[in-house]
Amino acid sequence: VRSRRRWWSVVRALDEFEEAASTPVGRLRQVVDAMAVEMHAGLASEGGSKLKMLLTFVDNLPDGSESGIYYALHVGGTNFRILRIQLGGQRSILGHDVERKPIPQHLMTRTSEEFFDFIALSLKEFVERKGNNLQPSQVRGNDLGFTFSFPVKQTSVSSGTLIKWTKGFAIDDMVEKDVVECLQKALSRRGLDMNVAALVNDSVGTLAVGHFYDKDTVAAVVIGTGTNACYLERADAIIKCQGLLTTSGGMVINMEWGNFWSSHLPRTSYDMDLDAESQNPNDQGFEKMISGMYLGDIVRRVICKMSLASDIFGPFSSKLSTRFVLSTPLMAAMHEDDSPDLSEVAKILEETLDIYVVPLKIRKLVVKICDVVTRRAARLAAAGIVGILKKIGRDGTGGITSGRIKGVRSGKLRRTVVAVEGGLYTSYTIFREYLNEAVAEILGEEIAPYVILKVMEDGAGIGAAMLAASNSARS
Ligand code: ADP
Repeated sequence: VRSRRRWWSVVRALDEFEEAASTPVGRLRQVVDAMAVEMHAGLASEGGSKLKMLLTFVDNLPDGSESGIYYALHVGGTNFRILRIQLGGQRSILGHDVERKPIPQHLMTRTSEEFFDFIALSLKEFVERKGNNLQPSQVRGNDLGFTFSFPVKQTSVSSGTLIKWTKGFAIDDMVEKDVVECLQKALSRRGLDMNVAALVNDSVGTLAVGHFYDKDTVAAVVIGTGTNACYLERADAIIKCQGLLTTSGGMVINMEWGNFWSSHLPRTSYDMDLDAESQNPNDQGFEKMISGMYLGDIVRRVICKMSLASDIFGPFSSKLSTRFVLSTPLMAAMHEDDSPDLSEVAKILEETLDIYVVPLKIRKLVVKICDVVTRRAARLAAAGIVGILKKIGRDGTGGITSGRIKGVRSGKLRRTVVAVEGGLYTSYTIFREYLNEAVAEILGEEIAPYVILKVMEDGAGIGAAMLAASNSARS
């Protein structure tokens, strides 16, 4: 009888969690509105919103006419990528080489010099390996695109200072330094004659590739270790920068949406604990509910609490108190386990969390926890995307004026493409399906067919190379 009671207390705890994390479409629409309003506030004045709405100085996106060979570096979260692409004009990529390297953990918290030396050396080895068969004339002035997926205050398209680290990085001497200068110095130390022609955020890179292939691409979202978004804004809507002159009349805005916050977000006690114990409390609230760095850890926290309150997982395993032991890919593997006896779930519980011999109904409960966490993440990301569309009047409601949402339909519906990148979206099928489904649900069946989400694999890096191309072509 006692163990039955415990089981029911766990079921109740799961119900409560599901309720607290629920995202009915009405709540998602409130998040959509909050996102659009915060975007407006962030554009109105510096510090006007938790959304930084950073200027990128990218005012012309690649249009497919670019040609030549370009390199790019992409410093994201867990991986570091080096790329070489050969553009052939007419929206074509003739050649494409990528090398991925994990960033050694110890370099993430040391000095900027050590960090950039590692990057420069890796690039040098890559160029020597891949570039031997090239005529020097094929490499246009050795222009390099640099994707740096952390908040940067840009001062031009090829310079900018680091505002703060996210995603577990903490190289303190880098903060407020010019990122390109650091890289450029490391390149010279290694004797590499390359010029950083474009410094971009991963979302901006993704938007650039999206636009290279499809000119209806107006926004980009990255959902990997962290999450961010950018979009094309009218220069005259960037109120905090009066008189901003751009050749196209528009500019890409890097939202840094990981820091978005609204009281409408369905926050649970697990989110609060995760935040309080993180390296950056009260920061990146949206990111902590959505991105790959955190989802597995939310699941771990729920299992941990259940295991403390009952014996359904057997004797308490100390692994359950270790932050980040359950990574998001492992959590996804449990969620997507389609074996009849959920053997993958059992295996991961055993190997990762030291939890042995769990009956099937408990394994099903674990899958359910993964589902609640992932569904909420995907649906909130979807609401964020529709929030951007609302801000620029592409959600069918006529956008916003002076920070107030207009609810009435106006204007002609236009085909609108959003480029999406990041391991969570590209590799976690259930997450992707939940997100796509929620975008359509929020927009409604009349408008949904006009909005297309397109995957841009490695978009962040390729886009930086394309922007290096389009900027060097113009300068
Ligand atoms: P980054 O964001 O680190 O630059 P990616 O865009 O490749 O790199 O995203 C990697 C992140 O995506 C991982 O940290 C992980 O959280 C998530 N991820 C990758 N593969 C999967 C997967 N199969 N299932 C769930 N999450 C995944």
